Amino acid sequence: MNKIAMVDLKRQYEKIKPEIDKAISEVIESTAFINGPSVKAFQADLEQYLGVRHVIPCGNGTDALQVAMMALGLKPGDEVITANFTFIATVEVIALLGLTPVVVDVDPDTFNIDPDAIRRTITPKTKAIVPVHLFGQCADMDAILQIAREFNLYVIEDACQAIGADYIFGDGSRKKAGTIGHIGCTSFFPSKNLGCYGDGGAIFTNDDDLAKKMRSVVNHGMTVRYYHDDVGVNSRLDSIQAAVLKIKLARLDEYAAARNRAAEFYDKAFANNPKLKTPVRFGRSTHVFHQYTLVTSGIDRGALQEYLAQKEIPAMIYYPVPLHFQKAYQDPRYKEGDFPVSEHLCKTVISLPMHTELDEEQLNYITSSVLEFVNR
Ligand SMILES: *Cc1c(COP(=O)(O)O)cnc(C)c1O
Repeated sequence: MNKIAMVDLKRQYEKIKPEIDKAISEVIESTAFINGPSVKAFQADLEQYLGVRHVIPCGNGTDALQVAMMALGLKPGDEVITANFTFIATVEVIALLGLTPVVVDVDPDTFNIDPDAIRRTITPKTKAIVPVHLFGQCADMDAILQIAREFNLYVIEDACQAIGADYIFGDGSRKKAGTIGHIGCTSFFPSKNLGCYGDGGAIFTNDDDLAKKMRSVVNHGMTVRYYHDDVGVNSRLDSIQAAVLKIKLARLDEYAAARNRAAEFYDKAFANNPKLKTPVRFGRSTHVFHQYTLVTSGIDRGALQEYLAQKEIPAMIYYPVPLHFQKAYQDPRYKEGDFPVSEHLCKTVISLPMHTELDEEQLNYITSSVLEFVNR
C-alpha cells in the first residue's frame, strides 16, 4: 500500500510531471519571473472558470483578505463580523488593519457562520461580514446577502478552502464560491484544493472600480508607474506559480470529483455509527471537501489520533482552539460559553486524510482502523 499522507502532493505531481516541468522551465527560460505572460494567462482562465469579471492575483490568501479590506476603505473602529471557528488569517488581517473583529458562532451541522448570530451582533459600527466557506462548502449566502442589503454592509467571502464549489441560490441559479459577495478571496497554498508549489492567492470581484483599486493596492498603490495614489502593499503571484496553477486549474473539477469519491467512501463506512457524525451536506452548496471532518462523541479523540498515528495514518484537528480563546485575540467582551458550538467543535472534531490520490486500499485501511478504535 502507498504511504498515506494528509495531502499527497507527490503522487498528484507525478501524474502531471511532464506538463509541469515543461511549463516551469519555459518561465525560467523567459526570465519573466514577475507578472509574466503565464500570470495573465492563468488570470484569464480563472476568470472564465469562475464566471467573474475580475481576478486579481496576489501573494497569498491572507494578503487577499487584507487587500480586500484596504480597498473597501475600512477604517479603525469599523467592526467586521466573521466566524469564530476558522483559520486565524481571517481575523488576523482585521486586527492588523486596526479594525475590530467581531466573532460569531457557527452552525453545528455545516460548521459555517450562523446568519442569525450575525444579525444579533450588528451595531451601527458594523461595516462588513466575512463568511468563511469552511472545509469546502459555502456558507448560507442567501441569508448573508439579505442581511448585508438590509444593513448596507460589505460581504467579503473567504473562499480559501472552497474554490470550485457552487452556491445554489433559492431560485436555483448558481455562482462559484468567492464570486457571490462584493469581493472573494482565495489561497493557492500547496495543500489547498487549487494549490501551487509555493505561496499564492487571488481576489475576485465583479465591480470594476473595486478591481481597479485592488490592482493598485497589490502593486504599491500604483497604476501609473512611480505615481502612488493609494497606500499599497507588495503582493504578487509569481510567474512560475501561475504556470503551475494554469495546469492544475484545468483539472480542478476532476480533483473535486476524486475528493468527493473519497468522502462518499468515508460516509458509507461511518454511516449510522453513533460515535461519529459524518459531514452534513448543506443543500445550497456543492462540496469540494477541502477537509473531511468527523464530529466524535463518547470517545477520546486524542487517543483516536494517537491510535491512527501508530498505524501510520495521519489525522488532524482543524481547529483545536476557537478564536476567542486565542492568546493574541483575547477580548474582555468574550468569555467561556459565549460560543458553545465552536467550543464543542474544537473539542470533538477530527479530520481524516483527504486529497486527490486516495485509493480504495488506503480508504479501506483508514476506515477499518477508525472503526477498530471506535467500536472496541
Ligand atoms: C489558507 C487559508 C487562509 C490563508 O491563506 P494563505 O495563502 O495561507 O495566506 C485564509 N483563510 C482560510 C479559511 C484558509 O484556509
